[in-house]
Amino acid sequence: MDLAHWLGRAVEQHEKWQDGHGPRPGHPALDVADADLSAAFDALAERLDGSYPFFHPRYAGQMLKPPHPVAVTGYLAAMLVNPNNHALDGGPTSSALEEEVVEALAAMFGYREHLGHLTSSGTLGNLEALFVARESHPGRGVAFSAESHYTHARMCHLLGVDAYTVPVDARGRMDLDALERLLSTGAVGTVVATMGTTGLGAVDPLHRILERTRPAGVRVHADAAYGGFFTLLAEPEPEPEPGTVPGLEPGPEPRNAPAPGPALVDPAPWRALPSCDSVVVDPHKHGLQPYGCGAVLFRDPEVRRFYGHDSPYTYFTSARPHLGEISLECSRSGAAAAALWLTLRLFPLTRAGLGRVLAPGRRAALRWAGLIGASPRLDLYQPPDLDIVTYYPHGAPPVLSRVAAASEEIMREGMRGGDDAVFLSTSRVSAGAFTARRPDAVADAEDTRILRSVLMKPEAEPYLDRLHARVEALAAGALGAARAGAAVGEARRG
Ligand SMILES: *Cc1c(COP(=O)(O)O)cnc(C)c1O
Repeated sequence: MDLAHWLGRAVEQHEKWQDGHGPRPGHPALDVADADLSAAFDALAERLDGSYPFFHPRYAGQMLKPPHPVAVTGYLAAMLVNPNNHALDGGPTSSALEEEVVEALAAMFGYREHLGHLTSSGTLGNLEALFVARESHPGRGVAFSAESHYTHARMCHLLGVDAYTVPVDARGRMDLDALERLLSTGAVGTVVATMGTTGLGAVDPLHRILERTRPAGVRVHADAAYGGFFTLLAEPEPEPEPGTVPGLEPGPEPRNAPAPGPALVDPAPWRALPSCDSVVVDPHKHGLQPYGCGAVLFRDPEVRRFYGHDSPYTYFTSARPHLGEISLECSRSGAAAAALWLTLRLFPLTRAGLGRVLAPGRRAALRWAGLIGASPRLDLYQPPDLDIVTYYPHGAPPVLSRVAAASEEIMREGMRGGDDAVFLSTSRVSAGAFTARRPDAVADAEDTRILRSVLMKPEAEPYLDRLHARVEALAAGALGAARAGAAVGEARRG
């Protein structure tokens, strides 16, 4: 799609709408000279040139990618109006759009009834979920895994509730025996299950967590900020549509088509989502949206009672509930709702809709894990649950200090070099976590750094062989350097 054309249409539509309200005065206070703007814009453009190329498949670092042009178009069209979804006074049309997209998200998670709204971020969504948890289970704490997002501990601190960290197993998932022991103390009122940890992309075994919390009357919140949309991949692969696979033509003849494959992610934890008390998902991560779009959903609409408040100067134009009455935030972008609404018209929350955007990254992660496993230069840290791949330069045995130095070097070297550049990230892991996966490792440090790549763009799939080849070449260089460095060190000592 031609973004310039569609942005033009958004501006045109906006001007037409303005003109429909009749003539209006301007004011010279707002005037700027084109030459001044041009100079200022050039200065901004120069600053922006220094950005990492998040759009390019060679960028496989953090959880970052540009919004889809459809989202940008929807955002701009509404942002020119600048509605505020706090109240119907501020965003009558965009509040309705928000209700519709929240309904769609609730349906995706299998909530029949729900209360929910968009938020500015996953962190604020999680804060609300934990706030409701505190109100519904007063005097009891919140438990989350050691791999969960760091904001849970901060939010518990903010809310004044006790926080309990549950250890993880050797795949970075919540340890169920440890959870069971913690639950038996009666101190915990709410368990946070992470559906895709930010570091490893590990999915907590939500179905098994629920088996343990239900008898104890403990609440469960799913932090699916990163992984939520992967629930679309939890059902078996559909048959490809004619025309989407080369050689697969429509017609009555038996088609030379791949059979519907198994689900791309382990379905069990995702199928348990409808039983969670609340869930947070970030459309600004895997929902193709620009930043400023998280969402929190509650299964029981009655939790609205915990939000009760009134405002002397809003909530006038409608007796319908205003989103601000069920939200801790006040002003919030109505354009974010419009952007998501337009996006979901083109990428509905189905396997064939948005699912087709997530599937290539997941397939690329699975294939890359295989390539790394077979590589003499790289070792896989753990099999990916989602589209985040973790790995490190090969060592037999791996020595933690060398793994850290070589990983850093690969990340740094990778960013150099124009057409060859690759952008990776590193992640600190404890010696205990590393040796749980590699008992033969030499733990000469308390922790180490491994490489981490987030393959959240579909373009990662066609680019994977180049990415892998480049990372392997970088590892060859880094391993050589680490060996030479170690030899120099030994020579000096000797
Ligand atoms: C990103 C993330 C968050 C925080 O969300 P923001 O939108 O960055 O505030 C929380 N939990 C998980 C699992 C995440 O991946």
